[in-house]
Amino acid sequence: MARILILGGGFAAVAAAEMLSDAASDHHEITLVSNSHDFTFFPALVPLVFGNFKPDEVHFDMRPKLVDRHIRFVEGEVIGIEPDLRRVRINGDDIEGFLHFDYLLIAMGRGLGTDKTPGFVKYAHHLLGVGPALKFKKAIGDFGSGSIVVGLCPDAFLPVPVCETAFALAAKFEREITAKEVSVTVVFPSTLETAFAGSTLFRDLEGEFERLGVKLVSDFPIDRIGERSIFSKLDSRIDYDLLMLIPPFRGQKSLEQIIPFADEFGFADVNDLMQVKGFDRIYAAGDIVALPGPRFGYMATRQAKVAATNILAQLQNKEPTAEYSHKIAWAINEKYTDPIYFHYGFWDETLDDFDEKVFFGMAKRIRDHYGHVKAQKEKTEIAAAAGRKK
Ligand SMILES: Cc1cc2nc3c(=O)[nH]c(=O)nc-3n(C[C@H](O)[C@H](O)[C@H](O)COP(=O)(O)OP(=O)(O)OC[C@H]3O[C@@H](n4cnc5c(N)ncnc54)[C@H](O)[C@@H]3O)c2cc1C
Repeated sequence: MARILILGGGFAAVAAAEMLSDAASDHHEITLVSNSHDFTFFPALVPLVFGNFKPDEVHFDMRPKLVDRHIRFVEGEVIGIEPDLRRVRINGDDIEGFLHFDYLLIAMGRGLGTDKTPGFVKYAHHLLGVGPALKFKKAIGDFGSGSIVVGLCPDAFLPVPVCETAFALAAKFEREITAKEVSVTVVFPSTLETAFAGSTLFRDLEGEFERLGVKLVSDFPIDRIGERSIFSKLDSRIDYDLLMLIPPFRGQKSLEQIIPFADEFGFADVNDLMQVKGFDRIYAAGDIVALPGPRFGYMATRQAKVAATNILAQLQNKEPTAEYSHKIAWAINEKYTDPIYFHYGFWDETLDDFDEKVFFGMAKRIRDHYGHVKAQKEKTEIAAAAGRKK
C-alpha cells in the first residue's frame, strides 16, 4: 500500500484527488491536506459581485465528498516539505507534526505578496475569496460618484478578473460615465499584451475599453497605495475613490526554503510529466507551478490530471508517460449575465469531464444555469461576440 499525499484543496488538488480515488483508493492511502475545508470556485467571484449568484453557489465544504471517496482529509497549514525524508510538516488542529508520503502532489496555489505593496491591505479591495468579493460588492452598491480604479499589481498573474471587473463597472455605471459623474480606470504594470502573455485578445480589449469609456493605463507598476491615490515606481500618481486590485503573487514559503524545489520566487519547477525537477515521485500542479503567463483553473486541472495519471502508472510499476502541454485558450461569452464576463477553459470543455456528483458538478450546474460557453478562439469571432453585447 502506497501513501499518496496531496497538498492543497483547490482546483488542482481536487481534480487529482478525484482521479486518484477512482483508481487507487481501494489499495492505497490517499490523504488531502488543506488549510481550509472550503472549496472556492474563483471564476464565479466577479459574477458574484455583479451578477445574481448567491455565495452558497460558489463555495462549499468539501469534507463529505472526500469521505465518500475514501480520501482522508487533514485540515492544517503545510509549513515545510522534506523531500529526502519523504515527509511534510503540518501545523493544524488535526495534526501538529509530520505526514509521510510515497507520492506527493504539491497543489497549494499561489501565495500572496501583499507585503510587497505597502497600503494594499488597508486601502484596496480584492477578489481572492468570497468574503472580500462580497465586501467589494457592498462598496460598489454604496458608490455614488467619483473615480473607480481597478488593476493588476506587478507580479500578479490574473489579468482576466481585472478586465471583467472594468467591463462590469462600465455596464453598471454606463449613464454616470457618459454624464462624467463616474470614471473607470484600468491599470496594468506593463502592456496588456504582456499581461495576456502575447495573446491577440488584448487588441480587442483595448477597443472595448475605449468603446465603453474605460480609461486604460499601461506601464504603471503600482509601488504603494495611499488613502486616495496609487503611486507607481516612478512616482506617478492616480487618484481613486474606490480601488480594486489583484495583489502581487509569490510561490509558497514552504517551497522557498527547499532548493531545488522552487525557482527564486517560490514556484515549483516541473518537467513535462509535472514532476518537480529532480524528484520522480514528487509532482506539482496549478498556480504553484513555475510556468510563463497568466494562471488558470483549467490549466490547474489539466496539470493535476497529468500528475495523477503518472502517479497511477508508477503505482503499477510502469513508466510515467503522460505529458502536459502549456496552452492558453480563450472564449468570451456575452450571454452569461448582463455585463461581459470572460470564460475560458474551465467553463467549457473541461467541465464535460466531470459528472454532477463530483466536486466540479457545482461548477457544471452554474454553467448550465447561466448558459453554455462556446470557445471562440479566432480574433474575429471574439470581436463579433464583444460587439453583440450592449
Ligand atoms: C477572481 C478570480 C477569477 C478567476 N477566473 C477564472 C476563470 O474564469 N477561469 C479559469 O480557468 N481560472 C480563473 N481563475 C484562476 C483560477 O481560480 C486558479 O488558476 C485556480 O484556482 C488555481 O488552482 P490551484 O489548485 O492551483 O490553486 P487554488 O484553487 O488557489 O487552491 C489552493 C489550495 O491550497 C490551499 N493552501 C494554500 N496554502 C496552503 C498551505 N500552506 N497549507 C495547506 N493548504 C494550503 C488553499 O486553501 C486552497 O485550497 C480566477 C481566479 C480568481 C481569483
